[in-house]
Amino acid sequence: MEDDKTIFSMIIDGEIPCHKVYEDDLVIAFLDINPFSTGHTLVVPKEASRTLDKLSDESSGALGRVLPRISRAILSATGAEEFNIIQNNGPNAFQSVFHVHFHIIPKLKDGRGLTFPFRSSPINHEEAEKLAESIRELLD
Ligand code: 5GP
Repeated sequence: MEDDKTIFSMIIDGEIPCHKVYEDDLVIAFLDINPFSTGHTLVVPKEASRTLDKLSDESSGALGRVLPRISRAILSATGAEEFNIIQNNGPNAFQSVFHVHFHIIPKLKDGRGLTFPFRSSPINHEEAEKLAESIRELLD
């Protein structure tokens, strides 16, 4: 089951929609559908690797290049000054989508963000489209 095409490969192939904030030849980034805080973004290599240790150097380099830039745009768009990046590998390490991804999670001034135990709430699609647009503009 875990080796079937993942939801992220379907997003990369345009088969299901997302609130995209960034895309290049090797990487795509879009808002998480169940965000911990407004602006919670997933940065995903297009290469369909299950876990980070299996990812090619080329995709790893591409991710490393864009993570700081996308983080800056998310901070500007949300007004957050702090954030977490988490990256889970394997079901016992909280991975639920078996295609490598980094979470960028703004820590908002009202306290929303990454908390333990994890607490998320469903995305508001209307607000999300406006937010994704402003992050895209900041990345142009
Ligand atoms: P993991 O637990 O694997 O580190 O994180 C997977 C993330 O993918 C979760 O935060 C979950 O909300 C998000 N997610 C799962 N399905 C979808 C989807 O169809 N669209 C988007 N945008 N995010 C998804």
